Amino acid sequence: MNILVINSGSSSLKYQLIDMADDRVMASGLIERIGEEMGSITQKSNPDKWPDAKSVEHLPIANHREAMGLMVAKLTGEEWGVIDSLCDIDAVGHRVVQGGESFSAPVLVDADVVETIRDNIPLAPLHAANLVGIEAALELFPGTPNVTVFDTEFHQTMPPKAFMYPVPTDLYEDLKIRKYGFHGTSHKYVTKEAAAFLGKSVDEVDLITAHLGNGCSMAAVKNGRCVDTTMGLTPLAGLMMGTRSGDVDPALFPFIVKHRNMSVLEVDTMLNKQSGLLGISGLNDMRDVHAAREKGNEKAQLAFEMFAYRVKAQIGSYLAVLGRADAVVFTAGIGENDAFVRAAACEGLEGLGIRLSPERNETRAPGVRRISTDDSPVDMLVIPTNEELEIAHATKALVDG
Ligand code: ADP
Repeated sequence: MNILVINSGSSSLKYQLIDMADDRVMASGLIERIGEEMGSITQKSNPDKWPDAKSVEHLPIANHREAMGLMVAKLTGEEWGVIDSLCDIDAVGHRVVQGGESFSAPVLVDADVVETIRDNIPLAPLHAANLVGIEAALELFPGTPNVTVFDTEFHQTMPPKAFMYPVPTDLYEDLKIRKYGFHGTSHKYVTKEAAAFLGKSVDEVDLITAHLGNGCSMAAVKNGRCVDTTMGLTPLAGLMMGTRSGDVDPALFPFIVKHRNMSVLEVDTMLNKQSGLLGISGLNDMRDVHAAREKGNEKAQLAFEMFAYRVKAQIGSYLAVLGRADAVVFTAGIGENDAFVRAAACEGLEGLGIRLSPERNETRAPGVRRISTDDSPVDMLVIPTNEELEIAHATKALVDG
């Protein structure tokens, strides 16, 4: 079975075609600047077999429907094509950001599902782009099962005491304002991988999972189910991120509006796009932050310290929520690669049962690995995330019935 995984953004389309017999990526691609004067498509074919099989093409791409046509042409093309025709795609799995309270599991797309996703757009305006992708795929692959997998799904098991905000309840009843959480597909994937690595079944593991990439979030996982997470109604909440502030005093909003004469929308943009590592150091990529602080840049040093401090504080908080943990899991760009951040975030947590092995932490190796000492009561694991594979597995499970 071949499954096509699609992640549709407002002006981009990412895709992966996966052979489910061995979870092998047959091709992966990125289409960018859809709707602009000049767009581009980059496809890597059979990256395991032909690491250099990369094609790049620049051309105007009017909309997502056209982008998908282009994707199919690349997948079936004479040069670096990996399938003969559309018939070789058995199912399509879509990443959808916001499932609201309507979806706590992947679903097969039908007209009702499309309408429910549309109803959730006010909760996450950017996710309108996901719907555009789904509609384009339904048109292009009419007879093929299309499945949606939601970023919010894994967090739907949170109890009300964790997901409700202490504000008047009519805001929840009328506007559905509550904590939803995001990156759920990643938290779910690493939870399963951690359980397998620890030799336990998923419903036996208690974990703190830290997805630290450009966007950052953490989840407290009890018996394999999410009981709390740091992102909220939107992905702005929680940890400090590349360009997002994470948690700040909400009174900062009216304060800035008044004293800087900015609109609410401008403050929102500032907190989402000009804050976090970028706001403190002028650099949004953790690698650049390290390079700058190594040259003595104090703002970069502060940004790094703030980032790690907030991860540490959250680990402590979730240990309290869980009462115990089998492991703390680090994943995504920073979590998987950045030994400095991991070391700083875990420094001084020995009293909580978290003992990092500096040597293991600094040794790079592919796959799942333990970075704690053998006598650490709580394991510390680095687990490469794979959201596309998780979406493909969920899609297959649904299609197989
Ligand atoms: P996204 O959330 O966009 O998927 P990623 O998971 O790719 O992001 O993470 C991007 C972040 O990971 C950036 O801050 C980048 O600096 C960081 N990162 C990637 N590779 C490394 C590395 N080798 N060392 C330190 N940080 C890294």
